[in-house]
Amino acid sequence: MAAPGPHLLRTDRGTDFAWRRLILAVGAREFFLPFPGWTLPHVVGAGALTLMVKTGLPVRGKRVVVAGSGPLLLAVAAELRQHGARVVRVVEQADLASLLRFGLTLPRLAPAKFWQGLIYRARLLRVPYQTGCWPVAAQGGDAVEAVVLTDGRRRWTDRCDYLACGFGLVPNLELAQLLGCHLNPTGVRVDHRQETSVPGVFCAGEPTGIGGAERALVEGQLAGFAAAEREEEVARLQAARLRHQRFADALAHAFVLRAELKNLAAPDTLVCRCEDVPHRELVHCRSWTEAKLHTRCGMGPCQGRLCGAATRFLYGWELPSARPRSTRFPSPPSPCHLRPLTPDPTPHRHDPETRPCPPRRSRRETPVPHPDLHRRRLRPRRQRPHLPHREPRQRPDPRPHRRR
Ligand SMILES: Cc1cc2nc3c(=O)[nH]c(=O)nc-3n(C[C@H](O)[C@H](O)[C@H](O)COP(=O)(O)OP(=O)(O)OC[C@H]3O[C@@H](n4cnc5c(N)ncnc54)[C@H](O)[C@@H]3O)c2cc1C
Repeated sequence: MAAPGPHLLRTDRGTDFAWRRLILAVGAREFFLPFPGWTLPHVVGAGALTLMVKTGLPVRGKRVVVAGSGPLLLAVAAELRQHGARVVRVVEQADLASLLRFGLTLPRLAPAKFWQGLIYRARLLRVPYQTGCWPVAAQGGDAVEAVVLTDGRRRWTDRCDYLACGFGLVPNLELAQLLGCHLNPTGVRVDHRQETSVPGVFCAGEPTGIGGAERALVEGQLAGFAAAEREEEVARLQAARLRHQRFADALAHAFVLRAELKNLAAPDTLVCRCEDVPHRELVHCRSWTEAKLHTRCGMGPCQGRLCGAATRFLYGWELPSARPRSTRFPSPPSPCHLRPLTPDPTPHRHDPETRPCPPRRSRRETPVPHPDLHRRRLRPRRQRPHLPHREPRQRPDPRPHRRR
């Protein structure tokens, strides 16, 4: 997606959309944290595994450990069990006290979700749900065979055929960033009408913060009414909006990621799996830009969609910004032979009319990166550009918990 001009969006297939009011509702993606073995086949996102199962992946009789953080884990485990999987354990990194506090607020803030949670738990009878635990390593050969778990005091190993792992969701912000919308710590900054800092651009659902399906629906309605200037309906939805926002705040508070998770990656653990960049190459970089320049981190097919959020959590870097295709440079410069631009003494041979400069490769023809990152990783590693050698910067590490 590009923004080649004001009030104009261009899709990856080259179709232009002119807009007067624009509502962004592009959802969120799963948040992955690197730990030894996280790139093994059959270590998959919790939501991704549910999707794969729903679209035909057989899991009957397969042992699955569900690990990470957030209420999604229960939903995923219940769904997998319904499809015949043997859910070995659900492992939640948040501690029991936080979860109890969160559970107590649910009947008031989101009664439907309270009952939904109880139903999921009932479907998972006899499946251990362990709080204050997290995965430290996935082990196996061609695919994951076991996962090492810890509660901070002891470690144990669960054998499994799949590790469904996700540490919550992160909002999809690229489109909003491309349009120049301001962000806040939870996502895109919006006012009570869901309007962003860019007039005429509205945003609804997970990009404004993680808060579940009902909140997304209310925000979507609000954004629609606001875009249509139906202010009465906008006013009518304010109470529901506030209630769902309180739920989102409680969710963020209860499932905040513990500091120990920053120490999961070993020096050789890949952080950017597209470009095979290990933790040890990134730990000395000060910013996303520096990491890109020196290691190619985030420059592969996913363009930082996976490792961007992880590096923000691990190293405290600012989010990678989407590069706007601004109105000053409506289209990127394209290579062209000099000859057609200069007067030619033999027009019959080099007439620019008959020998035009080679057409610019349209966005439609631009190869789309293959979504299957596993297959991408099997290809030979790309030659890195030669960069001058740089000694690692000696500076005090403000984060004592990070592994050296
Ligand atoms: C397995 C699973 C179980 C869940 N269970 C529950 C539950 O029980 N209760 C609950 O409240 N919530 C649940 N959720 C969360 C719920 O799905 C989300 O909160 C809700 O869907 C958010 O709505 P949204 O409109 O913000 O985003 P989405 O529903 O994700 O919609 C975003 C859409 O935008 C599209 N999109 C993204 N980027 C672009 C782009 N650049 N251009 C064009 N289109 C784009 C996406 O393909 C998608 O169709 C679950 C989520 C998962 C993954």
